[in-house]
This record gives sequence, C-alpha cells and structure tokens, in this order.
Amino acid sequence: MTGPDKEADTIPPIRTLQGIGVSPGIVAATVVVLKRQTLRAGWYHLPADHIEKEVERFAGAVQAAGDELLQLREKLAGDLADALSIIDSHLLMLRDRMLVERTIGIIRHKNVNAEWALAQALSEIKERFDQIDDPYIRERFADIKHVADRVFGLLSGREHGPLTGEDRPVILVANDFSPEDTLRMQAGNVHGFLTEKGGVTSHTAIVARSLGLPAVVGIEHATSLLATGDLIILDGGSGRIVLDPGPAEIQRVQESDRRNRLLADELDAYIHLVSETVDGFAVRLSANIETLEELPAVLRFGSEGIGLFRSELDYFNNRRPPNEEQLVTTYQQLLATMAPYPVTVRTLDVGGDKFFNRFPGNRAWLDRERNPALGLRSIRFSLYEQDMFRSQLRALFRASVHGRLRILLPLISAPAELRQVKGIVAEVLTELAVKGHPVAEDVEIGMMVEVPSAVVMADVFAAEVDFFAIGTNDLIQYSLAIDRGNQYVAHLYEPFHPAVLRMIRQTVEAGHANNIPVSLCGEMAGDPLCAPVLMGMGLDELSMRPAIVPKVKRLLRHCRSSELRQIAQQVLQCGDCGQVRNLLGRELGTLYPKEYYQG
Ligand code: PEP
Ligand code: MG
Repeated sequence: MTGPDKEADTIPPIRTLQGIGVSPGIVAATVVVLKRQTLRAGWYHLPADHIEKEVERFAGAVQAAGDELLQLREKLAGDLADALSIIDSHLLMLRDRMLVERTIGIIRHKNVNAEWALAQALSEIKERFDQIDDPYIRERFADIKHVADRVFGLLSGREHGPLTGEDRPVILVANDFSPEDTLRMQAGNVHGFLTEKGGVTSHTAIVARSLGLPAVVGIEHATSLLATGDLIILDGGSGRIVLDPGPAEIQRVQESDRRNRLLADELDAYIHLVSETVDGFAVRLSANIETLEELPAVLRFGSEGIGLFRSELDYFNNRRPPNEEQLVTTYQQLLATMAPYPVTVRTLDVGGDKFFNRFPGNRAWLDRERNPALGLRSIRFSLYEQDMFRSQLRALFRASVHGRLRILLPLISAPAELRQVKGIVAEVLTELAVKGHPVAEDVEIGMMVEVPSAVVMADVFAAEVDFFAIGTNDLIQYSLAIDRGNQYVAHLYEPFHPAVLRMIRQTVEAGHANNIPVSLCGEMAGDPLCAPVLMGMGLDELSMRPAIVPKVKRLLRHCRSSELRQIAQQVLQCGDCGQVRNLLGRELGTLYPKEYYQG
C-alpha cells in the first residue's frame, strides 16, 4: 500500500468546460486563441461626390475577396483535389443580392462608408435569420457572416494569412471558423479546434468530421475563458474540455494522439492502393456524405466513390425546398468531381429521426404523427409529395450525363411501392426526352434494404432493381424493435445480433443469385471489427465516413478471402452476440495485429 497521495492535496481541482462534440478524437495541446476582428465599423458620412468612389472601393474588396478564395482554391487543389465546393459556395455568396447589393444600396442611400453599410446589411440579414425558429436554418447565417468578415477584413486592410504560424501542435480557439478555415487547418499543425458558435449540423462541423479533425463547438466565451499558451485536453466526442490537466493525463492523451498520428501517416500509404485482399478479392470502399463540402475529404482519403449521398441537407437548408435547377447544379458538381467513380444519391429520406421540424413549408400534420419511425417517412413521403419527388428525379437524371449515377430509394418495404416509383421514373424520363434533356444510358436504380420485409422479400426485389444497399442503422432498429435514442433500451441495439447477421447474409445471397451488387452503408461498415465479417459474407461495397476508409482498407489488404469467408461462416453459427464477439476476438487475434481491427 502506498501512503496518502501528498500531491493530491496540492493539485487544483480539474476544471472542465462542456460544449458540443462534433468530430470525435481526444487531443492534448497548447491553445492558440484567434481573436478575429469583428464587424464593428465606424460610421462616417460621405459627401455626395464620394459615394460612387466608395461603392467602387467596396466592389474592389468584393472582387479581392473573390480572388483570395480562388487562390485558396488553387492552393488546396494539390492536397485536397479540385472539388472545393465550399469555396465555390462562398464565391456565389459574393454575388448574393442580400449582402452585396444591399450594402451598395445603403452606401448610396445613406451616404455612408462601406464598412458601416456592410455591417448594417449583415445585421439586417441576422435579424431575419433570428426570426427563424428552426435552429438548423438559423445556423446558415454563419456562412454569410464568414463571407462578410472576409470582405470587411479587406476593406479595413486586414490580410487573410495562415491561420497560425505555430509549428508545434496546437488547438485553435475562436468565436467561429469558416469551413474554408477548417480545410486550411488540415494542412497545418492543428490537432483540434473549439469555437463559441456553431452546432452539429454547421458546415464547419461536417467538414471537421469528414477530415477526422477533433472539434468541439458551442462553448460560450471560450475566447475569453482560454488564453494562448493554456494547455487543454479536447474531447471531440463528448464535447468536454479539461483545463489544466495533470501531467500524467496529458502524457496519456498525447501518447495516444501521437500513436493515432503515426497510424494516420501509416494509413496514408494505403490511400492510393486498390482495396482488395491479398489474393485479389476486391471490395469497394466508398464514402457516406451529405454535402458537397465533404468532397475534398472523400478524395483525400481515397474513397472509390460515394456509396451514400444523403440528399436531405439541400431541403433543410432553406425556407423552401430547392428548385430543380439548384438540384441539377449540386448533383452535377457531385458527379463531375467523383467521375469516373460511381455516385449513389439517395432520394429524399425525411421523417423518422430526420428532423421533420426542419422541413420547409407548412407540414404541421406531420408533427402530429404518433410514431414517426413508422410513419410518413422516406419513400412514403416522396410518393405522397410527388411534385417534390419528380423534381428531384428530373434533376438527378439531368445531371447524370456528368458522371456515373446510381439512384437509391430509401425504406422500400413492398414490391408495389417499388413499382409505383418505377412508373414515376418512366414518366419523368419521357418528360425529359420531350424537353430535349440528354440523360445517361447507364443510370442504375437501387433500393435500401433497411426494413425486415425487404430482407424477407429480397429475392423478389433483387429481380426488380440494379443494386441493393443495406442500411443497418435502420435495419437493426426495425428488426430488433429498438430506438437507439431511448436510454432504457439503447444497450440492446446490437449489430452482432445473430438475427441482424442472418438478414445481411440473406440479402447478399438474394442479390448475388440475381447478379446484382450488394453494398452496406450503415455505421457497421466502418467498424473495423464488423468489416471482416461483412467482407466474408460477400458484400461488394462498404460505405463509411471518409476518414475511416484507409483503416478498413489496411485491414482488407492484409486479409485472405478464404479466411474472411471462414470467419463469417463461424460467426453465422453463433447463437448470441456475446459468442460472436468472443469468437472474433479469438480468430482475428490469430490472423491480424490487434490495432488493425480494434477501435
Ligand atoms: C441506414 O439506415 O443504415 C442508413 C445508412 O441510412 P440513415 O442512417 O441515413 O438512415
Ligand atoms: Mg436509413
């Protein structure tokens, strides 16, 4: 026994801050607080003959902001390929009427300086956004502010230099970062970031997740509570920040961070390698994304296509559903960037856990659904709101000539539903032909297998579609009757439940018997413990968050297909999930190093 820990008396209590964890990973590093200039502009009145000069000065700053963005786009192109759609969306905002024309209007009508007019225009926009109940749409204001900040900086002579000149590892702290800032961090020595503003669905958070950069948002007054030079631990999963951590804890976190970084370097070697087993058995590793801004991450981590593009964000982003032309632009960019790799776009999958209260328009009746998971969601909604569905299909087919498109239908539960969709698709194609829109010949139409009836009828469905995508997130909840969000039953949510594993096998067999490929795009696909079992069951494609792809690829490239098949067969004999886990621990442990399939 050791004596009382004298040191413990002298160690100050650990202090923590709690924010929202938006991108997992634990890091310990020194803080650099970036206090950005805020849009607090002095006001001055201009004589009438100076007004047009002032408008020109403002237009010059807008032009310079555009040039900067273009330069940044070019600079990043080497590292992050040429798909920096985020920068493009900010470039578009520089042409936005709300911000630019309104500012010019204020300069002209109020005879004031450009900085003040810009701040005024921005505060008008903010007022409008503040009135929006939906927190998700409110968050979109941040993007407009990032663009305004950039123009403001140029008007007041501020340069947009590197985010930090530090060459030691740092955690950046600021009021907010733009998604472009996040992309620039990737190339530097930034181990994580935390912000005062933001939410899980902000574009900055989405980009951080895709890049695998630990991040916490929503810590009020973080830039005052923390000072440059402070040492902290940031947990991007739980959202917890530990201030003044003890030396032992720092060492532990830094050691694991160091290991993760070595691992990331090692995994980089796999990015450009083909995803196949030692004996040449190929499994496509593709990416799950929900916004164009993630495309740089998709290319950075070597995904061979998009296995699931969740198309909901375009609908949640605005007060109104997007029109056909807007959707064509998005899908075109998506397909062209990924060509020649396939891109699987899932049609609108709203309802259930997918935030109906965010959906634009007056859909009050949906709020009254007693059981939304079993209600008017996904394909059922599209068949109910057919104009919206037809517009999305038209946009998809019109964009199809720019790459390799696969259209994925969510939550199909009965053959009649699928036939109804096919009827609509045929009408849409005739409509497009009449209007003279070219459409690619090879567009594939597939369905999600995510409800038990789809599994049971998989042989029937397989004859009707070009591919299956198994959605285990929903399949587990619907087959085991478990709501993952319910704290009392969440522990029963189990990917290794034998019923789930048998359903996956049944779907793969039905697909292959009909010569169609089968992919899996639930969270299971990116879990290195599940992946060998899935590959052994014969899945043709696993789709996951972009940053996980290299790890799963490393595992795959060290496997033999015969070993994987054998493991899958053994797993399918198990009577409960405990047995599955024990068996995997034992069998995988004899074949591969632990770090390949753990964590
Ligand atoms: C799934 O259900 O597994 C799936 C991939 O879809 P989502 O998580 O978007 O419902
Ligand atoms: Mg689903």
